[in-house]
Amino acid sequence: MHDPPQHALRERLIPAMSVPSASGSPITNCRVCDSPDLEPVIDLGRHPWCNHFLKKEELGREPFYPLRVVYCHRCMTAQLDYTVTKEVMFSDHTYLSGITRSLADHFRRVAEEVDARFLKRLRSKSVLDIGSNDGTQLKHYQALGYDVLGVESSRTAAHRALQAGIPTVNRFFNLDTLRAIARRFDVINAAGVFFHLEELHSATDAIRDGLKESGVFVVQFLYMKRIVENLAFDQIYHEHLLYYNLATIESLLNRHGLAMFDAYVAPIHGGSIVGFVTYQGRRPASSQLLLLRECEDRDGSNRSETYRAFFRRIKLLKKENLEFLENARRAGKRVFGLGAPAKGNTLLNHFQIGTQDIECLVERNELRRGLYSPGMHIPIMMEDELDSAPDIYYVLAWNFKQEILERYAELLDRGVQFYFPINPVDP
Ligand SMILES: [Zn+2]
Repeated sequence: MHDPPQHALRERLIPAMSVPSASGSPITNCRVCDSPDLEPVIDLGRHPWCNHFLKKEELGREPFYPLRVVYCHRCMTAQLDYTVTKEVMFSDHTYLSGITRSLADHFRRVAEEVDARFLKRLRSKSVLDIGSNDGTQLKHYQALGYDVLGVESSRTAAHRALQAGIPTVNRFFNLDTLRAIARRFDVINAAGVFFHLEELHSATDAIRDGLKESGVFVVQFLYMKRIVENLAFDQIYHEHLLYYNLATIESLLNRHGLAMFDAYVAPIHGGSIVGFVTYQGRRPASSQLLLLRECEDRDGSNRSETYRAFFRRIKLLKKENLEFLENARRAGKRVFGLGAPAKGNTLLNHFQIGTQDIECLVERNELRRGLYSPGMHIPIMMEDELDSAPDIYYVLAWNFKQEILERYAELLDRGVQFYFPINPVDP
């Protein structure tokens, strides 16, 4: 007897319209340039908010929202066409940037680089970090003698930063917040936050107004060109309202009197841009930046067809992953998920991977102890709660591949398989 392929069944089981919610809204015009000429290019279906891990009593009661990328035919920016209200997403998230070693190392290198390149000779220097989380980035600036200030919307993260001795304002960053701070800075940093901003134009104005005449804005963001090349569609989630390439973020900055003068690709989250920005007309574009712009042109990174092709590849990846898990199940293997990152929930929900495939998600972030993954409701287990190792680890935190393979070398030796659903071409 032949069963129908499992993934075909699951297509039909995707929950239809769940609880309607007043905590979000669709957009009809581009977030950057206001054009109505938006084309849907990637439709991942309806998803719960990926960062709200659930308590047992909340299971099945979470709202679902559309998760769809549209392409603006005027300014070429890829973006979500639905906004989950920022108070829902950022007031109490449980992501702590201090957790992972490679991210902490990256933040230290960026602080040292910025200081050495732009501010070495200044005696008193200041930095403002937008979305400063638990203060991981600012600690490194503090160690270099900077007067530091963080702005962080999550109460939990802001509280941790304050406890660690990092001055932090618990607010959303926009013009009102900058007016309340009433200062200008030598450096403004925004790492992994610039695509979140619902108040995009107010926040960009606030960056311009908060920067000293010779100041540098350091912007770090997931590079959409790399997301596409790596097939890392799990980076698409409600917190990421915008998916920038250089051409698109530069057009946004230019609208607000700012301009990028240098950039490079760092191996964070599978490929992120570290860009250096100042007032327009101050510094020429570096040869490195010119080269990156050329690569975008050459590869058609800002064309709508590139995004349509990306969606076709996501469908093939889904088929491949579900076949792998189906075979594992038929062979009677135990499969655990490794890591419970927010992005993992895009993957689990889009692929409809639940407890029938994966027993639990093994996590190290204490804040998630005893919780369940949004949408698919897979229980989270701390490493110290496990009674035995699985046959297979399905690695949701694929972007820490090297770190994971080193940490679990002993399990690898014992024959535990580590399956990476996404394999960056150039990590
Ligand atoms: Zn646009």
